[in-house]
Amino acid sequence: MKRALITGVTGQDGAYLAKFLMSKGYEVYGTYRRLSTPNFWRLNYLGIMRKVNLISMDLNDTTSIMESIEISQPDEIYHLAAQSFVGASFEQPIATGEVTGLATTRMLEAILKRDKDIKFYNASTSELYGNSSSGPLDEATPFKPQSPYATAKLYSYWMTRLYRDAYGLFAANGILFNHESPIRGLEFVTRKITNAIAKIKLGIEKKVILGNIESFRDWGYAPDYVEGMWKILQNETPEDFVLATGETHSVKEFLSLSCEIAGLAMDDVLEVSSSLKRPLEVHYLVGNPSKAEVELNWTHRMEFRDLVKEMTEEDIARWDSFINGKPVIWDAQHYDDNNNIIKTRYKMDA
Ligand code: NDP
Ligand code: GDP
Repeated sequence: MKRALITGVTGQDGAYLAKFLMSKGYEVYGTYRRLSTPNFWRLNYLGIMRKVNLISMDLNDTTSIMESIEISQPDEIYHLAAQSFVGASFEQPIATGEVTGLATTRMLEAILKRDKDIKFYNASTSELYGNSSSGPLDEATPFKPQSPYATAKLYSYWMTRLYRDAYGLFAANGILFNHESPIRGLEFVTRKITNAIAKIKLGIEKKVILGNIESFRDWGYAPDYVEGMWKILQNETPEDFVLATGETHSVKEFLSLSCEIAGLAMDDVLEVSSSLKRPLEVHYLVGNPSKAEVELNWTHRMEFRDLVKEMTEEDIARWDSFINGKPVIWDAQHYDDNNNIIKTRYKMDA
């Protein structure tokens, strides 16, 4: 039986990947970090909480990284843990550099010391491209990061390549375009929208307050993308791959479709606030996944409309259950994005 270690198993991708690898017969180990309130809701939501072997690990703590590898003795490591939110990276550029950038080197060093045969997947991102070109963006397009997050990920990308080239590790980058789901973090614009639309639909909220609604993203479905991660590590040689749908939509289109699905008029619910606009913006992303399609036989399955539908309907169902006193496993009841969270850096261009 193959063994996999997933860093960041409590996150969106980690949870879906754990479930996927179990379906392939893997023994799955996943790292989590100690928080004042334990955060296992995604594992519970997917029904796999008791099936993942959980190891406490913090990316700032090299000893805990070493230990997670000692304990799990993995054939494959999927390094997904990171400070993953572009917005927060402007507010915490140094922590983002440590966790999203430098920690990848801690992982690679640990592999080098412990077992050079471990295959390593690194979670790279379409944010690397910034506004470098309007696309479609592929593995050969130059990078031009536009945030502390993307800059840290660029370092992480190159260190993964460096350990591959210099030390012969099977280390590969998946350059993944945005991928979403009903278990996406609430701060990301897609889930922020579907959670807000659900609350508005049920009379709990009146408005959804957004920043730049004119930016475009190539949005796919997270379960499709975790399969691609696995395929990247099953390839004969360690190589970097773009995973994307090849289609792009604006934030406004996402909102408009979510409103349509919920039976709401967009003009009645939308409020735009310049205080939510970022100091630097990535305006337009669309990927070219041809290499993954040809060499890995990977393709996205879920289309944009179905993605928005699934996310919107799931959030409406959750809030509906909640207000009717039925138990729900989810994250939104303790979070109010329209409330008084101060976005420090965002105000710079207000
Ligand atoms: P999430 O934010 O949902 O998950 C991130 C995970 O990292 C969580 O388990 C989180 O723990 C963990 N983590 C954060 N900081 C630390 C730390 N200091 N020590 C240990 N663990 C930590 O991200 P996704 O699942 O969406 O993304 C997975 C990876 O893929 C990330 O690296 C992300 O940057 C990258 N990526 C994501 C894309 C997307 O569209 N989803 C696109 C391209 C790349 P906790 O649950 O406790 O917060
Ligand atoms: P990103 O592509 O990783 O930055 O993913 P996000 O979901 O955080 O943001 C996608 C796009 O939505 C970016 O261009 C944001 O500027 C834009 N956006 C507009 N309003 C908001 C908002 O209120 N929250 C977030 N997270 N993004 C917003």
